[in-house]
Parts: sequence; structure tokens; C-alpha cells
Amino acid sequence: MIRLPPEAPASQLRQDLRRELSQLLATAETFFERGALVPGQVYETRRRCGKPSCHCMQEGGHAISLLSVLSPDGRKTRSLSATAKDALLPLVERYRRFREARAAFVRSTKEVVRLADALGDALCARVDLDGLKEA
Ligand SMILES: [Zn+2]
Repeated sequence: MIRLPPEAPASQLRQDLRRELSQLLATAETFFERGALVPGQVYETRRRCGKPSCHCMQEGGHAISLLSVLSPDGRKTRSLSATAKDALLPLVERYRRFREARAAFVRSTKEVVRLADALGDALCARVDLDGLKEA
């Protein structure tokens, strides 16, 4: 009357699901870190100062650090002093890690749902309807 599903596929899926869930929780740890995020990028470039006698004319410009951030009225770019760079770079890095963790969290969540669905399918028994009286 009831044909039970084989245990092996479900057992494997349970293991996979448990592994993926612990991965999901590990990824989420990033969300609990304290400290501010700066949604932007810090990068290096070279710029000529324009003084004809400056050594930078031969060297391709002075090395400068730029900050590019998203503000309510669009993307803004500002040059950074060494002090400002030291202060901002860790927060920009933290933002990047946060976004990476979020992307990994989304992927992992989808995989958890897929595995849970597959486990549900693998656990479904077949009921022989022919052996039962029609209602
Ligand atoms: Zn110069």
C-alpha cells in the first residue's frame, strides 16, 4: 500500500543541507561585526600638478589617493590626504566584505531552499492508490 523511499538519497541530502546551513551561519557572522561601513572605493592614480618645472612632468604625475563614494546625489570623487586614507580605507574594505558576505548569503540561502526541496521530494513515499477504496 505504501512504498517507502530509499534512505540513501535523503541521508546524503540531510548531510548536504546541514553543511550548507552551517556555511550560511558562518557567512552571516560578517553581519554582526561592529563598526561603520563606507560605500565606496579608494584607489591610487597619478596626476600632474601643472607646474612646468615640477619633476612630475617627467614622472607621469604625483601619486594621489582618491575616494569614490555613492552619495544621495550620485557618485562623488575626492582626493585623500594620507591621514584621511588611513581612516577611510578600513571602512571601505569593511563595506566590500559586507557586500561579499551578502552575495554569498543569498547564494547559500538559495542552495538551502533547493536542498530542503530535494530532501522533501526524496522523503515522499509512493501510495498505491489502486489498493485504496475511491472516496
Ligand atoms: Zn608636480
